[in-house]
Amino acid sequence: MKRFCISCGVEESETTPIIKGLCPKCYVMLRGLASAPQSVDIEFCRVCGAIRVHGKWVYVHSFDEAREVVEDLVIDLLKPSEDVVLEDVEASFRLYESSTASVNVIGKLGGVRVSQTITIQLNWRSTLCPLCRKIAGGSYSAVVQVRYVNRDRDIDKYINELRSLYGKWIKEIKPVKNGYDITLLDAEVAKRIAEDFKHRWHAVKIVKSYGDTKRLSTGETISRLYVSVRILNFKPGDYVIIDGKPYTVDAIEGSWLALKDSNNNVKRIHIDEVVEGIGKYRAKKSR
Ligand SMILES: [Zn+2]
Ligand SMILES: [Zn+2]
Repeated sequence: MKRFCISCGVEESETTPIIKGLCPKCYVMLRGLASAPQSVDIEFCRVCGAIRVHGKWVYVHSFDEAREVVEDLVIDLLKPSEDVVLEDVEASFRLYESSTASVNVIGKLGGVRVSQTITIQLNWRSTLCPLCRKIAGGSYSAVVQVRYVNRDRDIDKYINELRSLYGKWIKEIKPVKNGYDITLLDAEVAKRIAEDFKHRWHAVKIVKSYGDTKRLSTGETISRLYVSVRILNFKPGDYVIIDGKPYTVDAIEGSWLALKDSNNNVKRIHIDEVVEGIGKYRAKKSR
């Protein structure tokens, strides 16, 4: 027995399958290929153009990138109808401007290719991302204090690399005596940079502390994170004072220093036992 579309009466054929009592044309009209909310709010940063997606801020670097982010967000809103296999979705919309997005959905229904245009109202909500809010507030949340024993071109090179790796989060890199102070807008980035140093130079001591707590106009309190990164890159010939006695570094063996006293006696000390003094280096009580 032939089946008919309960809506338009067309008879079932190879090119016109009947699905849930409907021909493909009527199925698309009455049930739709996919469901989507009528409208969606999209938060964006009016300063840097970052877009908030599922609660997370996505920092985009071009309109193309922004377009991709929004397109993915729109596609995620679609729920295909149960009889439909989605094959392609294309969305056109305006960036950073509330308007209607048209989403062209192409899919298969009972083996027949069908398409539909679904519209979703996009409401762009202008705000500030956490980063730009901090910049606007003139505050910063972290300082990485990098100090070395010996100047090393690799450290200078890495400091320059940081600018391209974390440029957006860096407020200032200031050369200081035996090191650099890196002022950052984000505490997590500060911790990551400290770990990078440890990873590259091994003999690195990291000490974290908080200070300069202040209250923002929004009522939030913020503290500055200080991360001290001491790169203990001793080299033979360096002068060290331990328990008031002067030594020169004879050799570096992994995390151990071989030290020579004034009588040419050699003793070994672990790098963790060396603490930095003011302008000189001394060691805690030796074992
Ligand atoms: Zn029909
Ligand atoms: Zn921003």
